[in-house]
Amino acid sequence: MSKFYITTPIYYVNAPPHLGHAITSVLADIVARYHRLSGKEVFFLTGTDEHGAKILRASEKAGREVSSFVVEIRESFRNLSPALNLSNDDFIYTPDKKRHWPGAQKLWQKLKEAGDIYKGKYKGLYCVGHEAFVTEKDLVGGKCADHDEKPQLIEEENYFFRLSKYTAEIKRRIESKELLILPESRRNEVLALMGEGLKDVSFSRPSQDISWGIPVPGDESQTMYVWCDALSNYISALGYGSEDETKFLKFWPADIHFIGKDILRFHAAIWPGMLLSAGLLLPRELVVTGMIQVGGRKMSKTLGNVADPFELVEHFGADAVRYYLSREVPVFDDGDFTQEKFSQAYEGNLVNGLGNYVQRISTMVRNYFDSRLEKPAEEEILKAPLKKGEVEYVSVPYFIEKIVFPEYKKTMDNLELNRASDAVFGLLKELDGYVQHYEPFHLIETDKEKTRVVLWNLAYGAVSLAWFLAPFLPQTSDKIFDIFGVVGKPQSEWNTFVVKEHKALFPRKL
Ligand SMILES: [Zn+2]
Repeated sequence: MSKFYITTPIYYVNAPPHLGHAITSVLADIVARYHRLSGKEVFFLTGTDEHGAKILRASEKAGREVSSFVVEIRESFRNLSPALNLSNDDFIYTPDKKRHWPGAQKLWQKLKEAGDIYKGKYKGLYCVGHEAFVTEKDLVGGKCADHDEKPQLIEEENYFFRLSKYTAEIKRRIESKELLILPESRRNEVLALMGEGLKDVSFSRPSQDISWGIPVPGDESQTMYVWCDALSNYISALGYGSEDETKFLKFWPADIHFIGKDILRFHAAIWPGMLLSAGLLLPRELVVTGMIQVGGRKMSKTLGNVADPFELVEHFGADAVRYYLSREVPVFDDGDFTQEKFSQAYEGNLVNGLGNYVQRISTMVRNYFDSRLEKPAEEEILKAPLKKGEVEYVSVPYFIEKIVFPEYKKTMDNLELNRASDAVFGLLKELDGYVQHYEPFHLIETDKEKTRVVLWNLAYGAVSLAWFLAPFLPQTSDKIFDIFGVVGKPQSEWNTFVVKEHKALFPRKL
């Protein structure tokens, strides 16, 4: 069985999760489920990034002990999984001394053995909000433009990682697509950056300044800076550096790291550099998702427009939120959320679209055929073809297999998840057209046998929708399989449908 390893970023715990975190996790979950359904052994990882000066400062401000301060927000991120029905196999967090630290420290050790860690003097303007040194061009009127605070001039002794040494090799891997970066625009952006050559990166901080972090192996006076601390989660979670590296040997390299554009540079430059230095394989793909805005503006506490995924799930259910995030927002571009758009999409496509279709078809089967439909003979099926414009497809199953499935597979494999979802909802539209064309509710009065064929095709269509939607709307998909009596049955056994009475899939909210 082939393996598939997929990750979300580890999320920074300075605030509880918002819709931006939810979208990355949902997209990764859809891909994980798709690969699981296609028979791969999948490992899906998410988690939290909890160290650093900013978190320490936030905990002090709240008058809390940092180690308990982070737990609360960590748990709210962990709760995204049951809320959104995420199928992650693991959850890693950076203060975990047993599971995370050994991997981070082993990796550091490997870079050191390769001669790529050296001590140097670092002098620069440090912005606490950034948790990074900033340059003059980041400043407006002497203050950091993003954080509206004055950076501190710091001179200190740090360890550095010799990233410059790996510029050419990283560039080669990205150009050859051995390390694939999607979308293309982001790949070009990274390559342009490589053109300037990569600079060595500051890799530690004096422990007296940052006590909240992982000590540098062999030098307690220094704490690892974010790179080795955080990026190493992708391998520490697999047991790298622990007594048992079986899982690491099986699942590494990652097949996909899902990331946001704000962390692309770290994942496309520093992370590959570290892996090359340690003699480890590089991830296969970096997938950069767009940002989600609220009402056309970036979510921010100041604007008070932070969309809470938990509230949405509570009101509309997990699948409705998964639907919106995976279809109404393109994977690679920025998307927009407003309550109004969300409600419209919910009512239009889920309540009146999918939910209504399943309700109508199952009701007709119950009323006209005593809840049971046997598969008609092939020549009978051919008597109720599907018409799409001028083209006539021999049957609904044929149309699904030859037209919908290839489009779905192609777009899923290319990670164009919103387009795959479009293909499925396009099928729903065709099926609705088929109902309008044959009008089974009138046809039953004159031709019961033909009605049987039409309804069987429509039931087959409903079950096909459920099959396509399984990675996207897992709960809804299960319900549809159950309603038509084919739970656990492969497509080759979708012959007889025994229909159950059921509640509306998507309750009306307006
Ligand atoms: Zn700043």
